[in-house]
Amino acid sequence: GSGAGRRRRFLLKLSGEAFAGGGGLGVDPDVVHAIAREVAAVVADGYEIALVVGGGNFFRGAELQQRGMDRARSDYMGMLGTVMNCLALQDFLEKEGVETRVQTAITMGQVAEPYIPLRAVRHLEKGRVVIFGAGMGMPYFSTDTTAAQRALEIDASAMLMGKNGVDGVYDSDPKLNPAAVKFDALEYGEVIARDLRVADLTAITLCQDNKLPILVFELLAEGNIARAVKGEKIGTLVNT
Ligand code: UDP
Repeated sequence: GSGAGRRRRFLLKLSGEAFAGGGGLGVDPDVVHAIAREVAAVVADGYEIALVVGGGNFFRGAELQQRGMDRARSDYMGMLGTVMNCLALQDFLEKEGVETRVQTAITMGQVAEPYIPLRAVRHLEKGRVVIFGAGMGMPYFSTDTTAAQRALEIDASAMLMGKNGVDGVYDSDPKLNPAAVKFDALEYGEVIARDLRVADLTAITLCQDNKLPILVFELLAEGNIARAVKGEKIGTLVNT
């Protein structure tokens, strides 16, 4: 990458939690539809959008491990869960008239293309949305780390982390502490030193090493994805 990246190309990370809506488990089509509408609007504006979708609404490997399962196998279950979210999002994006390709890190030819970076970039250049599923295809990693890696590989200018019910990074959990203070901007080093849990450490250090900016913002507030790509001052920007 060139450092600053392609100015109109963004990697948007969506947590699986967001897909579940209020339910916690599975996919809430109304939420996915709302996200698809917002993504369609920015694509119509000429932005190139690639997405990495999490799977916490189905399985998290670490949680299954605590309940006695083999870690690697439960991580694979976690990765497979992300693909269902990808297909739901693809469906609603196509209904919004946006051509969408899902590329998975675990090959499953009947439902998605394999992950082919140069092809992903070609899709973006043609105005298609690309959704990356199945994480990186490797146990012991997260979809946050996947998002950072994919953002770097496709030369996105930033990683946008859409959160569910929180509008940025705080010095303590705003759901537990009403006096929690929100940061407008942070350095990677502060995130790590203060253990602020913007994303997992592997993801943060990957962004730090490669100077990939991270914007943490509230996903489900109407118009926020557009504000994020336009560089309006929302959420928390993590940078050097
Ligand atoms: N996962 C993995 N390797 C990857 C990406 C994901 O093993 O490269 C597994 C891991 O078990 C993780 C699960 O997939 O818990 C779901 O992803 P994640 O927890 O990142 O989803 P989110 O929290 O964003 O919904």
